[in-house]
Amino acid sequence: MKALVYTDTLELQYRDEAEPEIADGEVLVEIEAVGICGSDMHAYHGLDSRRVPPLILGHEAVGIVQSGAKQGQRVVLNPLITCGHCDHCQGGRSNLCAERELIGMRRAGAFAEYISIPQRNLLDMPQDMDPVAASLTEPAATSLHAIYLAEKIMHRPLSECSALVLGGGSIGVFAALMLKHKGCRSISLADTNALRRQTAQDLGCGRVYDPLGDDLPDPASFDLVIDAVGSGRTRAASSELVKAGGIISHVGLQDNELGLDTRRITLEEITFLGNYTYSVIDLRAAIDLLYSGALGSLDWVDIRSLSEGAAAFKDIHEHQAASPKIVLKP
Ligand SMILES: [Zn+2]
Ligand SMILES: [Zn+2]
Repeated sequence: MKALVYTDTLELQYRDEAEPEIADGEVLVEIEAVGICGSDMHAYHGLDSRRVPPLILGHEAVGIVQSGAKQGQRVVLNPLITCGHCDHCQGGRSNLCAERELIGMRRAGAFAEYISIPQRNLLDMPQDMDPVAASLTEPAATSLHAIYLAEKIMHRPLSECSALVLGGGSIGVFAALMLKHKGCRSISLADTNALRRQTAQDLGCGRVYDPLGDDLPDPASFDLVIDAVGSGRTRAASSELVKAGGIISHVGLQDNELGLDTRRITLEEITFLGNYTYSVIDLRAAIDLLYSGALGSLDWVDIRSLSEGAAAFKDIHEHQAASPKIVLKP
């Protein structure tokens, strides 16, 4: 089969690879669409010690099942493989499973014609749903999960709150679109990339601004700040811009530098909320949301061929990609 293989820092090769061996309890899926994630870019930059080349990356995937009980069905892959029986898995928080494993991390991912994945990781979806739209399930579920965790502890409903999203990648854009869908009173989004700002603006992500520019929001002006970047700089911005009593929802994993103002967090009862991925329920809800059209048209997705994948990574690396998401089709 053909696959896009991460071979070294800043290097991907589209080449022939052996078809995956199907382990016990697993099925073969023919990939139809697979998105490039920020975490794939992190690996590409040589910054993810968990993703060791040579490796097939990619985990935001949709395909047609080739074996097992669901043979012939179009499915979304739940990329998070968990044990299924620990307290977290049984309690509906499988994303916290100590044995969690992501496809495209230590095992082969979906930038390929085929993948082998546990049968229980297949998610049902409407069979007439566009595979590209369905491949947005994973990032959309990540945003949905972050908003859900924040909503549980907010003191006022979203309709009375102002929110700021840091980062205009797919997680940030989905967070802004979902906040809008949920009736959030005022939404702002910050990104340093002018192309992405334009896209976020066009999509109606609220007030879009350049955090390195002059026209910045006032300190302490947001009830909720969603940090979809996760750098020292964005943590410092979150600490400054969140209101007293507000929530910083931390989703991004760019670096582990300092930046949080723990003194202000303490004195002003700010909640710092970590978010990691999603539960199966979040994934199902994301499929419903994307299918229903509640997030608007999804024609902003940049669709390319898997064989052109290396160029797509390069475009993102060089900040030349205007779309928050590039989806590859084998
Ligand atoms: Zn992802
Ligand atoms: Zn578990």
